[in-house]
Order: sequence, then structure tokens, then C-alpha cells
Amino acid sequence: MASSIAKYRTDVWSDWCPGCGDFGIVAAMQKAFAELGLDPARTVIVSGIGCSGKTPHFIVANGVHTLHGRAIPFATGIKLANPELTVIVNGGDGDLLGIGAGHFVALGRRNLDITVIIHNNQVYGLTKGQASPTLRRWEQVKSLPRPNIQDAVNPIALALSAGYTFVARGYSLWVDHLKEIIKAAINHKGAALIDVLQPCVTYNDVYTAEYYKDRLYKLEEEPGWDPIVKEPSKEETEEKITNALKKSLEWGDRIPVGVFYVNPHVETFEERIAKLNPSYREKPPGMQEVAFNDGRPLVGVDEFREIFREFIVEVKK
Ligand code: SF4
Repeated sequence: MASSIAKYRTDVWSDWCPGCGDFGIVAAMQKAFAELGLDPARTVIVSGIGCSGKTPHFIVANGVHTLHGRAIPFATGIKLANPELTVIVNGGDGDLLGIGAGHFVALGRRNLDITVIIHNNQVYGLTKGQASPTLRRWEQVKSLPRPNIQDAVNPIALALSAGYTFVARGYSLWVDHLKEIIKAAINHKGAALIDVLQPCVTYNDVYTAEYYKDRLYKLEEEPGWDPIVKEPSKEETEEKITNALKKSLEWGDRIPVGVFYVNPHVETFEERIAKLNPSYREKPPGMQEVAFNDGRPLVGVDEFREIFREFIVEVKK
């Protein structure tokens, strides 16, 4: 049931630069949470390090501000311990596609039901604007003494090849459009990526709001665009991934935003675990009773062993 946006606003003072695109992402998340009626007690926002790392401070939900590049492993542990929680990762392009790139790929391979929101501003804003993994070759933002000589990572193409089953791009200044994408990603069962183009008004003087103004267009307004795999068939899946990959390469006079690919037919990691450990669904690790209310342990070592019996890996000789 929908609830008020005010329910998700904290009174924490923000030290983001005035005009930063991050404000639009927080506003879109709060609106999405309100329209979905998410229970803050059953919602977890996990962030890494960077300007985006402060996102959990500004939204009423459980929040964990973790280490650089490690938001996804934290979120993975939380989701596996209690698969009933709604888990969202917020991270920068440097955090998730630089130091955290291995974890980003692993999440796609697992198709764990987590939504990843990349605050993609092409720079390391918190450390004064160095080139991040999404800045393109020969581009020079104002902090760089020389142009960038590395090629950029394409977050959409990387997510598609890693196995994400919901892949989209939003724009932080189109709050209502982004809100709809966030709602769809949260409702999707499986690993979801939203690559959000987020102007860094302080350090990125190339990808500004002015730059995006006449270039962005909405995929859903393209005649015939349909990103959803309707049947669990190899042919249709390949066709939809191919279409999405082609669109992901479009960057210049026209830049697409919207949903690139959705495949609801792939088993989630939670479902795969439940196949191996039948009691996982009813009693995942986070729901096991291990202590009395006063903190005294409920069970001894042997009982613990019994509780986690299904998770013990035996080495075959
Ligand atoms: Fe936003 Fe850039 Fe300022 Fe960081 S440095 S708060 S990304 S405008």
C-alpha cells in the first residue's frame, strides 16, 4: 500500500554540493519507496565509499555505509541471511566498476535478488574529480591535467554479459522517470542494475545537465522497443540481449535511457540454494533462533551443528 514520501526522509544534513545529481537519486528512491509502500524495517540500503556512499543517511530504512568497493558483498550476505528483505546497493561508478568490479560481475552470475544503483558521474567526486572507469578515452574533465587515455567500461554491456536479469539506465534529473525504473527493478526477482547518469556539478564539466539536455531519449518511446523476454527460450533471450547490447553502444548525439533488458525466467540464487537446502526458504540463517531475548545462547555447539547441518560441505575422498 502506498505511503507518504515524508516517511522516508531523514533530517540528516547533506554535505553534497548544491545542484549535485545525487539529490535526484535520493528523491526518486524516496518516491519509489512511498509508492511501493516499502516497510523501512524490512528494507536495507547498502553503500560503499564516495559521495554516493552517503545515500543511506538520507533515507529512512536500514542502512549500512560500508567499505570502498565492498557494498555488494555486504548486501549479498544480508540478502542470503534473510531473503525476505528488500536489499538495494548504492555506489559510484568508481566504487562499483573499479575496485568493486569483481563483485559486480559475481552478483550478475548469481542473479541474487538485489537492486544495484550506480551513481554514474564519470569521476571520483569525493577525491576531487579523477577519471573514473566510465570516463571515455580522450575526454578531459577539469581536474585532469591531461586527457584520459583509458577506455571506458560500459555498465549496461557489462551487466548484460555478467547475467543481470534487469538492466536499465536512468537520469538523475528526470526524477519521476527514474522512480518508475527503481520501482520496476525492486519488483523484479533477480539481480537488477540501474546505471544512473548523475551530473557532478563540481568536477565534471563535460557531462553536464546542458550536455544531456538534447541528447537523452526514452527507450520506451522508440517504436517497437520491447525489452522483456516473454518466453524462457534461448532464441528470444539472445534476441533481447543483442538488442540491448546494440542500444548500450549508442552514445553521442543520442543517448538512450529506460529499460534495456528484463528476463524474469532465470532462477534466482535464493531459488538455487533452496534446491540444495530445502529448509532454506522457511528458516534461512537470519531467521534461526540462536538466543533468548536477554542474549543467553539458546543452543549449544551440537545444536548449532544440527541447525546448519544442510549447509555443511563434506569433502568426498
Ligand atoms: Fe555531487 Fe560531485 Fe559534489 Fe560529489 S563532488 S557531491 S558527486 S557534485
